[in-house]
Amino acid sequence: MSSQACPLCQTRDGEAYFEDSQRCYLQCRTCNLVFVPPIYYLSSDAERQRYDLHQNSCSDPEYRRFLSRIFMPMQARLNPNSRGLDFGSGPGPTLSKMFEEVGHSVAIYDSYYAKDESVWEKRYDFITASEVVEHLHQPRTEFNRLWACLKPGGILGVMTMLAPAPEAFATWHYKNDMTHVSFFSRNTFEWLGHPWGSKPQFFDNDVVLFQKNA
Ligand SMILES: [Zn+2]
Repeated sequence: MSSQACPLCQTRDGEAYFEDSQRCYLQCRTCNLVFVPPIYYLSSDAERQRYDLHQNSCSDPEYRRFLSRIFMPMQARLNPNSRGLDFGSGPGPTLSKMFEEVGHSVAIYDSYYAKDESVWEKRYDFITASEVVEHLHQPRTEFNRLWACLKPGGILGVMTMLAPAPEAFATWHYKNDMTHVSFFSRNTFEWLGHPWGSKPQFFDNDVVLFQKNA
């Protein structure tokens, strides 16, 4: 298993991190990502079935409260009438609506629900990836694609539960969703921001912002 390439940094430097009845997990010694080997990836059909069950809706105040954790710190840093992209907008786009309600315009992209490839031809003042990076099979490719679409001075906001230490990992519910395959930590985000020249800013235990140099 240790010969598995890390999906983020591509080194083969993983060591056993945890194992349960469903899957085994490795941690990359280079970027600290905790990941499951590709043999555990679900098929596209099985993933889609799982996502179809998500009942998130923009009229649900609880869901809006949840998303406010990424919305608030980003909104505090945006100029009026900014242009954004919500990557991984899901079956019931809500975060994009919240930004539009305060005057921004937001394009959406989702590999299952809004596969509009023209979004990659444009440049954005801000990009959000909420509850999506833990699902990515190729996080490095996707992160670099998002970063490339950000204007100078722009902000990339990511929301994903930060992976706990091994002792707490055993009881961590987040890992039990079979569509979750990549688990990030502060160290991983520091590693990710390094080649971008961007130091991540953390909020709560699940939000991180990167600003691109102006
Ligand atoms: Zn790695």
